[in-house]
Amino acid sequence: MADKMDMKRFGISEDIVQFCSEVEENLKPVWKDMQAIMEYNQFKVIDAMRKNRLGERHFAVSTGYGYNDEGRDLLERVFADIVGAQDALVRPQIISGTHAISLCLYGVLRPGDKLISITGAPYDTISTIIGHNEGSGVEGGTLKEFGVEYDQVELGEDGVDLEKVFQVVDHTTKMIYMQRSTGYSWRKALTISEMESVIRAIKGKYPDVVVMVDNCYGEFIETMEPTEVGADLIAGSLIKNPGGGIALMGGYVAGRKDLVHLAACRLAAPGIARETGATLGMNRTYLQGLFLAPSVVGQALKTAILAAGVFSKLGYQVCPSVEDPRSDIIQAVRLGSAEKVKLFCQAIQAAAPVDSYVIPQPWEMPGYNEEIIMAAGAFVQGSSIELSADAPMREPFIAYLQGGLTHEHGKFGIYGVLQLFKEKGILRMPE
Ligand SMILES: *Cc1c(COP(=O)(O)O)cnc(C)c1O
Repeated sequence: MADKMDMKRFGISEDIVQFCSEVEENLKPVWKDMQAIMEYNQFKVIDAMRKNRLGERHFAVSTGYGYNDEGRDLLERVFADIVGAQDALVRPQIISGTHAISLCLYGVLRPGDKLISITGAPYDTISTIIGHNEGSGVEGGTLKEFGVEYDQVELGEDGVDLEKVFQVVDHTTKMIYMQRSTGYSWRKALTISEMESVIRAIKGKYPDVVVMVDNCYGEFIETMEPTEVGADLIAGSLIKNPGGGIALMGGYVAGRKDLVHLAACRLAAPGIARETGATLGMNRTYLQGLFLAPSVVGQALKTAILAAGVFSKLGYQVCPSVEDPRSDIIQAVRLGSAEKVKLFCQAIQAAAPVDSYVIPQPWEMPGYNEEIIMAAGAFVQGSSIELSADAPMREPFIAYLQGGLTHEHGKFGIYGVLQLFKEKGILRMPE
């Protein structure tokens, strides 16, 4: 009788499928816990939509200045409610996560103010904006050029090193900055409860300091967002978690009303702030993406956890591990060589529905300080809530895997990596 599930037609050998299925069996309890969070977040999203009386009229198209764009205003109220913030900007005029974060930095900070990152060096593109990095060499209006001071406290063994933080915070400190997600580093994402205790400690001593969180990749992983545990501002990208794979572009800022206003003044202009900004019919996709986001994030998490299980079983170090609490969708796998990192990314690309025939190569992306390789065969360019993998080309050669609108696609990608490793003679299956 013909095999009904002929994996060979996809170029995947039977032993790989078998191996992954065995790993998967042991992941079921972890998935179950995660599923409960995704359900809760789905309810949270629907509840915000019905509370704000989302109706079909909100899908109308606005053009020009975009005055009286009811859909935009409603979307922003819904978003603010979901993340427990006073206010939010959720807009196609925000180009990316980097842009969203920069709106917060330039919106709030003034010459002479000090910004302190307490989670070590921020994500590469944010370090570029700050401009205090050794050899960053970028001009064009970095915070440094505007006279904003900067300091940085490295993460300790157990997360934020509060003792050191209190050594550097002083009366000129306007903003304390945390990055929730790992970025290109070997550390676990900051959990909401970790952020809560850090924020509480800081606010206890310095109630006026603005606490801002780069929330990229963290949305909907836990039942609360940083703004629900005391963060004054958060920002992120709509082509990551909160866009649900549906948003075509955009970013968001959420938090305290006065601070969101300052970010809006930076996005548009003082005096205009949030009052204009046509949405060209995108409100429907934003709202639908937000509706799908908890479920899509769950699919991506399942893939991340499967990758952790598979690659740790194969003897690679992974971060986070299968059992670790998660607060972002990223799975880091320490592959140890440039060759393996390239193959990893090339296999993820080859498993994509779009641009599968492209072979990714390392290149010097704008805003990054070294060569990066990125696999992104996505329906939306650069969307990393879709299955994607990337890595800076540096020791110890760690590949970062994230996304997958469906877990099935994520699994297909993992099969592809193992298959390519096998064909290159670098896969050793455990006995
Ligand atoms: C992706 C990301 C950013 C930047 O977002 P872009 O949309 O790529 O500009 C910033 N911080 C973190 C942690 C990210 O993951």
